[in-house]
Amino acid sequence: MAIQLLNTFKMKKRDFLKNCLLTTAPLAIGVLNKLPLEMLNSDIHKLTIGNANCTIYKDLLFNYKATDYFINAEPNELESYLTKYNINPDQINSPFIAMLIELDDRKILIDTGSGYSNTPISFRGRTFPLKGQLLSLLSQSEVDNESITDVIITHFHPDHIGGIYSDGKLNYPNAKFHVHQKEWDYWNTNKSINENPLFQLFVEKNIKPLSNENLSFVKQDEYEIIPGITSIIASGHTPGQIAILIKSGDESILYTSDSFLHPIHIEKLNWRTNYDNDHKKARSTREKLLNISITENALINSFHFDFPGLGIAEQNESNWKWISKA
Ligand SMILES: [Zn+2]
Repeated sequence: MAIQLLNTFKMKKRDFLKNCLLTTAPLAIGVLNKLPLEMLNSDIHKLTIGNANCTIYKDLLFNYKATDYFINAEPNELESYLTKYNINPDQINSPFIAMLIELDDRKILIDTGSGYSNTPISFRGRTFPLKGQLLSLLSQSEVDNESITDVIITHFHPDHIGGIYSDGKLNYPNAKFHVHQKEWDYWNTNKSINENPLFQLFVEKNIKPLSNENLSFVKQDEYEIIPGITSIIASGHTPGQIAILIKSGDESILYTSDSFLHPIHIEKLNWRTNYDNDHKKARSTREKLLNISITENALINSFHFDFPGLGIAEQNESNWKWISKA
């Protein structure tokens, strides 16, 4: 895997620049102008998979509660895991991400972040600012949003669809939007009637205005959307969630979306989250994706893990373990 681990290098650059700014400011500004922007921005992470140039963007940093993440965990065992991972149960920091894949003549964006709003949102009795920065990061890295050819939406939760429209304007006007038919049907029929009103509002604003002209439906459990980019049904979190397998040359990466919300869910496949629609399916999806990561020898990119959420899963007898690679 040709992973560019830029963080260490970045810190060195930053220290260097800081020293320059203290001593020889004009020189530092000159150096600064010459550096690729992503080298200075810890919210942008680049890697290559064969011929595919992948960029992972941190749209924003959110936080969740352990009571929503591990709802059926036995208290003593949960306590030991929270200690092991040094987790504050009231504040599990969790990024929202998006991945851009530049492959051949296509620019494919997976998920769109939460979008940007001047008004905070209310969710489950808490109020949050919603200042997703994906569009700004794309522009900072000189990716024109109008040049995006394809947008793959893994499922219709706010943190994945909120950036499709801004104030009624489509942010990726020339892109084909790929969604799974099962996800579309779920949110466009009465089945989702008991979903949180905030989730419904996001679907209303970001999914329903899409027309046949810019939509493309995935119907199969496994389907190669674009050569080298395959959608794999990953039901459970939502009925039509998909994971994405990107293969180029002899390298591959598996974008698991929200099949695991925390590395602990890889170790404890049975621990349920409050955000899953069907726990039984969510559990078998977790196992299926981990096995695919082994057979495909794939790096994993997990949406809500510490940014950039890259790693591999290792199996030891019947237990799995997350090894972070960033
Ligand atoms: Zn999510």
